[in-house]
Amino acid sequence: MIRRKKSSIFLTILALLLVLAAAGCLPQDPATGATSGVRNIILFIGDGMGQAQRQAALWAAVDDDGLLAMDDMPAAGLLHTAAADSDVTDSAAAATAMASGVKTNVGVIGLDAGLAPVATILEKAGSRGKLTGLVTTTPITDATPAAFAAHVRDRKLFAEIAVQLLNAKVDVMLGGGEDTLLPVSETGCDEKYRERNAGRNTFRRASNQGTTWVCDAKALAAVDPASTTRLVGLFADQGMTRPFSPSLADMTQRAIDILARGPNGFFLMVEAGQIDWAAHTNDAEHVIADTIGLDRAVKIARQYAAANNDTLIIVTADHETGGMALSHLPMGLNGEDGPFPMAGGGTFYVNWSTRQHTPTDVPVTAMGPGAQQLNGVHDNTFVYKVMEKALGK
Ligand SMILES: [Zn+2]
Repeated sequence: MIRRKKSSIFLTILALLLVLAAAGCLPQDPATGATSGVRNIILFIGDGMGQAQRQAALWAAVDDDGLLAMDDMPAAGLLHTAAADSDVTDSAAAATAMASGVKTNVGVIGLDAGLAPVATILEKAGSRGKLTGLVTTTPITDATPAAFAAHVRDRKLFAEIAVQLLNAKVDVMLGGGEDTLLPVSETGCDEKYRERNAGRNTFRRASNQGTTWVCDAKALAAVDPASTTRLVGLFADQGMTRPFSPSLADMTQRAIDILARGPNGFFLMVEAGQIDWAAHTNDAEHVIADTIGLDRAVKIARQYAAANNDTLIIVTADHETGGMALSHLPMGLNGEDGPFPMAGGGTFYVNWSTRQHTPTDVPVTAMGPGAQQLNGVHDNTFVYKVMEKALGK
């Protein structure tokens, strides 16, 4: 009898714990209300990366029995991606949802649907003394990185975004977009287009205030994290050209090297921005290559997290692009791409249903303290809420 009673009390407690866990009640810091144990946040965004893009990368790089680094995580779910004014979002609205937790209209950066500015997770992390970083293969002024540190009504206002990014004092910015940051009067590293912003010489001014500027992989590798307080690396006039040099993994490593020196942790957003560009042209080869490139960058973050388990890593997308589908046999449809070799043997084909974005949910995977909140199906604004909770008040 006594034994039965004890076991029933035990079961009641267990059931209570399970209910609390299911309700998302997490250990919290009593002073700040923050999710316990989170010091660093690394958010990976595969632009246009739906489930088929991830699976194609898995087939090409690992094999059916293995897992990508981005999939081998304890938390997995789906995100709704709709914008305020459209079921089919763009990167501006989706990145604003993840960066600031609000739905806005297609094309809008860092403002709500009424065009009022909204604070971003990067800004909040900065105000709590964390170092911050943005890494991308697109121009740094493109919609996804811009939504973390700029506030403009139209994503095409690159000159204004450039000024705002520089004024936001992001500690590390790496990617393309020299043309959008340097003024006409300055000779940059990449003179291919030279569509400079006259009168917008904020970069040099920033450079005189202790910013280290690099424009190739060698210079990035030579940066000394111990003596670098602020780093801007622009490796192309516009988007970076393939093969990316430095790679997304290289850029992620250097960003972490510098940001990890901060006394209060860091926030870093890393975007594989050209998965989307390749999918817009139904170019499966580059969609797959860039998704594998993102996975290599995730591996770098995981290596850091293995030694620093107070790091929350989230991997997701802003939307899917191309309506990508996979098959083992050729379907004989228009737009069919392949065959592509599978790492475990055999081949596969890719089919496309559009050259545009689609409204399908995107996968989200996560690891580290608080990651389990992302299990299940959520709106993309929930990514912001999980990160905000990690920061605390
Ligand atoms: Zn796109």
